[in-house]
Amino acid sequence: MIDMAELMGVVFSGLSALVIEDVEDAGEVIVVRARTRDEAVACPGCGAETARVHGYHERTAADVPVDGRRVGVRVRVRRMRCPALGCQVQTFREQVPGVLERYQRRISRLAAQVSAVARELAGRASARLLPALGVMVSRHTALRVPLKIPLPGAAVPRVLGIDDFALRRGLVYATVLIDAETGRRVDVVPGRTTDVAEAWLRDHPGVEVLCRDGSGAYGEAARRALPQAVQVSDRWHLWHLLGEAARKEVLAHSCCWAKGTPMQEGKRADTTRERWQQVRDLREKGAGLLDCSRRLGLSLNTVKRYDRASEPERLQRVPKYKPTLVDPHRDYLRKRRAEEPGAAVQQLLREIRERGYQGSSNLLVRYINQGRLDGDRPHLSPRRATRLLLTRPDRLTGSQQETLAHIETACPEISALASHIRDFADLLVPDPGNAGRLQEWITAARAADLPHVHAFTRGLELDIQAAAAALTMPFHNGRTEGVNTKTKMIKRQMYGRAGFALLRHRILLGLRNVTTGSETEPHYPWSQPRHICPGQPDRGGSGQVTGSRSLLGFDDDARRNECLVGGPGGRISRL
Ligand SMILES: [Zn+2]
Ligand SMILES: [Zn+2]
Repeated sequence: MIDMAELMGVVFSGLSALVIEDVEDAGEVIVVRARTRDEAVACPGCGAETARVHGYHERTAADVPVDGRRVGVRVRVRRMRCPALGCQVQTFREQVPGVLERYQRRISRLAAQVSAVARELAGRASARLLPALGVMVSRHTALRVPLKIPLPGAAVPRVLGIDDFALRRGLVYATVLIDAETGRRVDVVPGRTTDVAEAWLRDHPGVEVLCRDGSGAYGEAARRALPQAVQVSDRWHLWHLLGEAARKEVLAHSCCWAKGTPMQEGKRADTTRERWQQVRDLREKGAGLLDCSRRLGLSLNTVKRYDRASEPERLQRVPKYKPTLVDPHRDYLRKRRAEEPGAAVQQLLREIRERGYQGSSNLLVRYINQGRLDGDRPHLSPRRATRLLLTRPDRLTGSQQETLAHIETACPEISALASHIRDFADLLVPDPGNAGRLQEWITAARAADLPHVHAFTRGLELDIQAAAAALTMPFHNGRTEGVNTKTKMIKRQMYGRAGFALLRHRILLGLRNVTTGSETEPHYPWSQPRHICPGQPDRGGSGQVTGSRSLLGFDDDARRNECLVGGPGGRISRL
């Protein structure tokens, strides 16, 4: 059997500091009437305890919904009179700390719920969701609430991660700073220039290690503000840049590894050959790159590209083919053409249709005319070829390993590229000896004819200390990049509403909960109900309920009376 008083205590446990006098069903809203306890309170001016009542006020606040309906609490609070002579405070209104804070119109536990929702969603999204949960909040409030959540303390970490993110891509950027060891967000500042970073580092001394990407601005800022700090470049970025260089090399050697695939021929290929010859001739006569560009009417970058190519074939590209419906039948078609070189296309079409080909005859004709049956192996794009070179060998399938072996042995340059990539991959496991090995790697990579890899090594040498630190120390910028990924989500959610201040606040709040400090599982204080026990009405957080009948129609006076602490006379109406 359920005791009404016990039930009231359970449902309104958040109001345990008050005496509930009445619960009224007013249709859409459930109105709870309550009052403060008749206890002495301390004067805020002098601290003297007083029980002298000067008058009464009513405060109205919303509480968490019950039964899917809104709950309004009307609390009668007392205005007290200070007994001390000479105290500045003559009368004061008593407060209900923990239940209803000063000036607030929401009971604390509802305020916590609203702020948790607004923290995740902010703005209109919260204003749309909360009414469905029985809480009325305007979209303006939903923007204001997250700004009121206090930020966690911004202690300066030993290992700082720094990175930029776009507020408006290409135009406006900001800098995010985090603790690179724990992922704790430390600060977000507008701008990403050297001056911005330098000013922050000077204002927040104590950083010993600075993790950054290859950005020159942050490196320079750290050199100015923290000359003793160790700068660490990011391993992922190093690998990414090497991957880009490798892709360009693979592209330049298209005609080596894609032997058999017909290259782009015709007018375009002729122009390429002609231009390469023109650039070569001018360069041999001692003309500079800029001079060539002016005389030939080509952009400087184009001239550089032609100049870098040791032969015109380096500028040839594998045609861009997409996978087609013919691909699965390639082997069969090759076999048939070998058996019967003059086989009619329509005959071949009939045969592969029987074998499940779903495409058109046009597609097959084009496939054959493009010469895609003539090559020894299926078409491979430079990007895919590079991916094979960059993938861990033990993660490749049998056929991928076969293709890789074919690519690697295509020419001495690609073989050298493959072996340098493998050596660099070994360096990515941090080890104290890696600084020396990096220098050896650079020397070895320069011995091969790989201009794009040479450009990568020049970049490495410009930032060699940070690169060496990245390969010897365990620190990296992964967590900063992770924060940036979440920032993008937040930005899309609020599309610039309320400006930088709210964005900064939401980034710094993150998904971390103030109570547990855990990033993954938010813990909300209201998720733990406080149980009350009959017979022990005032143990910690038990609600006081005065008077009335069982909510389920039972009347168990004996048990109910155990719970009653306040005076009789209250009522529960129409529940
Ligand atoms: Zn006083
Ligand atoms: Zn080659």
